[in-house]
Amino acid sequence: MHISLTKARRIGRAGLAIGLWLGATAAWAQPDYPPAIWEPAYPGHWYTSGDSHSFCVIHDMENYYLAVISYFQQSGTQASIHYCVNSEYYDNPAADDGLPGGLIVQMVSEQYWAWHALCWNKYSFGTEHEGFVSNPAWYTEAMYEASAGLQRHLCDVWGIPTDRNHIIGHNEYQNPNWTTWMAANWPQISPNCSGAQTHTDPGPYWNWTHFMELITSNPAPVIVMQPTNLTVAQGASATFSVVASGNAPLSYQWRFNQSPLVGATASSYTTNNVQIANAGGYSVVVSNAGGPVTSATVFLSVLSQLTNPAGCISAPTGMLSWWPGEGNGNDIFGGNNGTPQNGFSYAPGKVGMAFHFDGLSGHLNLGVASIPAPWTACFWVNRQDAPGTGAALTGDGTYELKLEQYNRTRQVGITKIGTGDYAFNYIAPAGTWVHLTFVGTGTGTELYVNGVLQDTLANNIPLPIAYLGAGYVRSSSRFVDFMLGSVDEVAVFNRALSDSEIYAIYCADSAGLCRAAEFAGAPQPGQGRLALNLRGQTGKSFTIYASTNLVDWAPLGTVPNPGGAAQFVDYAVTNAVQKFYRATQP
Ligand SMILES: [Zn+2]
Repeated sequence: MHISLTKARRIGRAGLAIGLWLGATAAWAQPDYPPAIWEPAYPGHWYTSGDSHSFCVIHDMENYYLAVISYFQQSGTQASIHYCVNSEYYDNPAADDGLPGGLIVQMVSEQYWAWHALCWNKYSFGTEHEGFVSNPAWYTEAMYEASAGLQRHLCDVWGIPTDRNHIIGHNEYQNPNWTTWMAANWPQISPNCSGAQTHTDPGPYWNWTHFMELITSNPAPVIVMQPTNLTVAQGASATFSVVASGNAPLSYQWRFNQSPLVGATASSYTTNNVQIANAGGYSVVVSNAGGPVTSATVFLSVLSQLTNPAGCISAPTGMLSWWPGEGNGNDIFGGNNGTPQNGFSYAPGKVGMAFHFDGLSGHLNLGVASIPAPWTACFWVNRQDAPGTGAALTGDGTYELKLEQYNRTRQVGITKIGTGDYAFNYIAPAGTWVHLTFVGTGTGTELYVNGVLQDTLANNIPLPIAYLGAGYVRSSSRFVDFMLGSVDEVAVFNRALSDSEIYAIYCADSAGLCRAAEFAGAPQPGQGRLALNLRGQTGKSFTIYASTNLVDWAPLGTVPNPGGAAQFVDYAVTNAVQKFYRATQP
């Protein structure tokens, strides 16, 4: 045990409980052990290089669960732990945190080395257990079973033997059998850290026989090979597969956006004739008598032919990127294709489909460098109240465009991380589509709502566009401010759009901006000539091809398209032969 009771008590119990649960939503990331909640220790309070992951060290807290988690998140704490396990026993009802026994929080990534056991740190994982060495009632069955599953996971993943030489108490230096074994097998480690090891946890009441039996008998399956992301064309087939090992029989249940898929109970899952509605997140739960294990969430992206909704308008000039959310994360203008992450899915949108974010972990990695002012960013947004203290539309590690400004004001805003949160005088209504346009002018930031200027801030930021649906804090390498709701038709420009251009985009409504090259007419300006009126993505030239048999196509020429529409004239038209035309945009 590591923490001083006086320090922990000074924080106050109510404050700790709130701090934990807010933190759990704001700082969610993928834990290494899926049943755990990711609740990181104070940034940097771990070694990023060590010797090996060869031992699992069992501690008890000599304190309460929430107090210890909070303690490890303070800057002045010179200690950390990989995992904490909750007991649920309470000798004093006033101290009961109401959390279930066996709840697990992960605080340090398994790839790193926590600070929990002095000279053993760079060889070991550490797990703290709620309770006190003086009272065996703290060591509940729920805590033993949860921790046994966790230690089994650590041993499986990192190749640690499941025996008492490798799964040890913080007090193991008092066990002569172990110190003798260490001297023979790990002479580079002092078993008592040259006399510095003085802690006696988990103490004489920890039931090692029972604990080791839980670890070694009846293990849950282990996923040997995770499924991987797939991108397929509409109409093709897609197969996800997983490789798991463990005691037979193994059963499988595939899930789509967290919901079980009926009949999807084999080690692979195939969708034939894939449609856009099949795009989203897939995972599989593999189970045996020892329990379930859940795979990583991977994504099916579906590519379909771009089409123009009836009534679409030409985009303004200066577009850099455009993510329409049609069953994939692709940027159909600039090629900065996004990669879905965690609790991300697709939902019915304003124009076709939209991106949907779960408010807990989902986001889209766009990987685009920030855009200096002047800039414009347009979004259709259908917001729900996010569970965290704020919600970001976009982030880049330094700045955020906020859909809900800190601290639950729900106001639209911008954030300079570590400097300030600035709010517009506007809250997007929940459960309905609104069009938001942010304009960075170089001297300030403007917000347009449904095409009309709503408010102007005197603060100016480069457009953050590395992540959609969440913010990112570079200094602590964590995602924050996960938004809940849908976003559609994200378009960014390298200039400040005018009032009328922004209003026109809003008025285009569900028709949106023209996406695909198409023929808008074919007048005949004179004998032997045919004009081809074209429209498509503004700023991309058209390439025209001709064919007489619809099989062999030859390029006829290229025509620039700065404004969204252009005309190409074919001067070699005769009545002697039929001629077909095709137009593309690069
Ligand atoms: Zn300890």
